[in-house]
Amino acid sequence: MTERSEGKENGSVPPPPGFVEQANVSDAGIYDEFEENWPGCWERAAELLDWYEGYDEVLNDEDAPFYEWFVDGRLNASYNCVDRHLESGRKNHAALKWVGKLKETRTYTYQDLHREVNEFAAALRDIGVEEDDVVTMYMPMIPELPIAMLACARIGAPHSVVFAGFSADALATRMESADSGFLITCDGYYRRGNAFNQKSQADNAVLRLDNEITTVVVDRLGDELDHVLGEGQYGYDDLIRANAGATVEPVEREAGEALFLMYTSGTTGEPKGVVHGTGGYLSHTAWTSKAVLDIKPDDTYWCSADIGWITGHSYIVYGPLALGATTVMYEGTPDYPDRSRVWEIIERNSVDIFYTAPTAIRAFMKWGSEYPEAHDLSSLRLLGTVGEPINPRAWKWYYKNIGNENCPVVDTWWQTETGGMMVTTLPGVGDMKPGNAGPAVPGVSVEVVDDAGEAVESGEAGYLTVDKPWPGMLRTLHDGDGRYVDEYWRGFSRPDDDKWVYFSGDEARIDDDGYITVLGRVDDVINVSGHRLGTMEVESAIVGVEGIAEAAVVGSDGTETSIYAYAITEDGYDADASLRDEVATAVENGIGGFAQPEEVVFTTQLPKTRSGKIMRRLLEDIANHEPLGDTSALRNPEVVGEIEAIDGEEE
Ligand code: ATP
Ligand code: MG
Repeated sequence: MTERSEGKENGSVPPPPGFVEQANVSDAGIYDEFEENWPGCWERAAELLDWYEGYDEVLNDEDAPFYEWFVDGRLNASYNCVDRHLESGRKNHAALKWVGKLKETRTYTYQDLHREVNEFAAALRDIGVEEDDVVTMYMPMIPELPIAMLACARIGAPHSVVFAGFSADALATRMESADSGFLITCDGYYRRGNAFNQKSQADNAVLRLDNEITTVVVDRLGDELDHVLGEGQYGYDDLIRANAGATVEPVEREAGEALFLMYTSGTTGEPKGVVHGTGGYLSHTAWTSKAVLDIKPDDTYWCSADIGWITGHSYIVYGPLALGATTVMYEGTPDYPDRSRVWEIIERNSVDIFYTAPTAIRAFMKWGSEYPEAHDLSSLRLLGTVGEPINPRAWKWYYKNIGNENCPVVDTWWQTETGGMMVTTLPGVGDMKPGNAGPAVPGVSVEVVDDAGEAVESGEAGYLTVDKPWPGMLRTLHDGDGRYVDEYWRGFSRPDDDKWVYFSGDEARIDDDGYITVLGRVDDVINVSGHRLGTMEVESAIVGVEGIAEAAVVGSDGTETSIYAYAITEDGYDADASLRDEVATAVENGIGGFAQPEEVVFTTQLPKTRSGKIMRRLLEDIANHEPLGDTSALRNPEVVGEIEAIDGEEE
């Protein structure tokens, strides 16, 4: 791999000096230090936690790719995220600030959190949950969700959180696959001001399962719960009342024992049941929360992801709470009741750190800068993004309009499977390059390789792999060790030489400074006249045009693959022929004439997964007039008809 240097290429942005002065990590020597002392360097992460029993060995790789981190160490995640902060005199410090959809708020101090986590842990035992039982959660963004997760962690019962927007079918499939006999849900929740019946979805899922399922129902709508509770169903508040004041000794878990299961978001197909351990995962998320998100105990930190996805697990719940900070949890959407909502929450809570997704940033950009401008965002110190590649224009918009050019932006690449951040700049150390995630996190080793598994030249596209294990890595897939090896370790490993290489499924490019540009998933790379083009590069060129908010491109298979572009205009711009010409020119100038889209279709929305990612494979099916593939992870099914209608009109 190319060596990391401090070279300043065109367009790179140094970290703001005021930030560097106070950063948790500001010494560039950390990269060499971690490399020279690998895997021992990861003790720096494990030291952030309290262990009942110290580990004997940092890493055991005898049974690769089934790696053991922090061998024989024993700890409890709930103790680390809650109890120890009481002991260190922070019991009246806010742990969780919840902002509800209808403008209610609730604040839990560490003491409050401790009380309710203990009471619910006792309740879980009452209803029969034992160590290692999988408890499924199907809840929107309400405080009872992280409380239930921490209560499970306390008694050593792995949780499996299923995003609340999934259907009854999707829930049933995941419960069955996880062999889970317990479900925690709620009566309903408000969606754009209207009550939505979550419990009937949950009940429908349970009907589809053969096992007896014990259900706990949180009262979110404020109605009488009793009349909706059936056999084997308990009201959350009743359970808490029955266990008022109870305390539950945290169960000592071995580092490698499961903390939770998480099904991937299903952007590419069948979701996979990823299993995360306790010691490695919590070390990795605590350490990256400190080194990358720069979280300090007195910070108010807001990650706008949903806890139903890995980002919410690692960086709303476990990472920030392990560090004793205040984590903000928002139930609503960014545009309800109006488009100022996010900025209002930041202003009102003096949020120091804000972590969101490119899809949200593109929406903010589309709505216009007048919304953030109307709010005092000066409390912000650091901005982050995760989930998809971010195009340079959106990056710069975020940096300027939200961060006022005072806040570093960390573009963090990682996956459900990696548990925590893998590729990003350290905000107090490296220069940022808009659209380019950065080098691997210290202690993480990534390589961009060709078909033969050899490192590509800098500037070339290749497969993004991880060639050394890392603490936050998945332990296995719940449906089997064989599938774990097949999915992630088959492509580039050479078991005969005992060389194990993890393949992420993404393509990327690496530059002379060792910075990684993620091009997208392997499936999202288009081959045009022999050139391998990342959808992200073409889309970046297109959204570089003033008036275009968001774009997705796909390949259409004629005799030669050509590019189809789908674009959304910013508010106040017309989708007309001149804009279409500008798009073509931008691609020609930015990439080359060969990449010019054959078709530019203006639409009002793009197909998105429930986790907010563009589902390009559906656009590809539409462009190629093929039957649509699996649409269960699609959030906005109406988009298909809309785009097909426009396509039809234009032909
Ligand atoms: P599935 O694996 O089920 O298809 P998914 O990959 O969308 O779903 P996640 O684990 O939530 O599920 O997402 C990880 C993926 O998100 C990465 O593999 C990558 O494609 C993309 N991603 C995440 N962060 C970034 C980033 N900063 N830059 C570019 N891509 C990113
Ligand atoms: Mg994936």
